[in-house]
Amino acid sequence: MAAPVPLSRRQFASDNYAGIAPEAWRAMEQANHGHAPGYGDDAWTERAADLIRELFETDCEVFFAFNGTAANSLALASLCQSYHSILCHEFAHIETDECGAPEFFSNGTKILPLAGAEGKLHPDAIQHALTRRSDVHFPKPRVISLTQSTELGTLYDLHELERIARIAREFGLAIHMDGARFANAVAGLNVAPSEITWKRGVDVLCFGGTKMGIAVGEAIVFFRKDLAKEFEYRCKQAGQLASKMRFLAAPWVGMLEAGAWLSHARHTNACARRLARGFADIEGVSLIARTEANAVFAKIPPAATDALRARGWKFYTFIGAAGVRFMSSWDTSESDVDALLADLREITAALG
Ligand SMILES: *Cc1c(COP(=O)(O)O)cnc(C)c1O
Repeated sequence: MAAPVPLSRRQFASDNYAGIAPEAWRAMEQANHGHAPGYGDDAWTERAADLIRELFETDCEVFFAFNGTAANSLALASLCQSYHSILCHEFAHIETDECGAPEFFSNGTKILPLAGAEGKLHPDAIQHALTRRSDVHFPKPRVISLTQSTELGTLYDLHELERIARIAREFGLAIHMDGARFANAVAGLNVAPSEITWKRGVDVLCFGGTKMGIAVGEAIVFFRKDLAKEFEYRCKQAGQLASKMRFLAAPWVGMLEAGAWLSHARHTNACARRLARGFADIEGVSLIARTEANAVFAKIPPAATDALRARGWKFYTFIGAAGVRFMSSWDTSESDVDALLADLREITAALG
């Protein structure tokens, strides 16, 4: 059978356009020998969970789900009753891109989106949202959900996380972290994973595997183990308990064992920075957000985006703040970046 033809070039539309990183692929292949017990009672799943505990330098509970929507929704459901609410940024994936799944799986917990510069929740906005109402008619705030790196490719630094953690403690709220691009955040901040999670009050992290180079799968990491009680039942009920779990788990072993997850993320972020520097030098093009992870948000004249599309480039214009989003991936090369920049330079020069 002839394989379907791939896109003619690597694209910047999303980091989920990329394939599987070689380290993840090799581990899948290694897992494909002989028989192993199903539903996570196998050595690969145990090893993957142990590696995650080592990485975070703490004893945490680890689960694997097929995608980020399920990971976020089930994690949030485990933190909330139906009469609770979840504070998040107005661009948060849980608010704008999960089709109501967090509300659905929590039986109606309300999401309360808040505005904030650079795609980030500001501590003052959280404080305000928590103090404006405390009566029984308003859904009781229970969780602060942070996306790290954010939907705009920015990062919460240690100081911001500390301030938010203090508010969470004061008001008795849990902190959920959507880490669909957690690897890019760790690479961008150059800190130990523990420093931006449990040491800053994060109770549960959805650690993204897909966007960092795994075929399928996200890890749900409970730093507060009591919150993970009966979580396996939630996964099963939601259709998220993989029968051949070893194939969800093995790529994590491949990515974590020799640090490939972080070296790929460092490279991915460097490509985004190269792209951002290039954009900044093009007349008529400006950056909308700081490039701190692997997203570049730019303001580009509509005629130029049309011309870029006509040259075969794919990208999104509907995410977060108005503008064009470009994502780099683990397999983006410097020459991919330079090719896009060269096209945009030619296009804008011709438009005058
Ligand atoms: C991609 C992404 C997810 C996960 O999305 P799925 O398509 O459900 O895997 C979650 N959060 C953010 C911020 C994302 O970008």
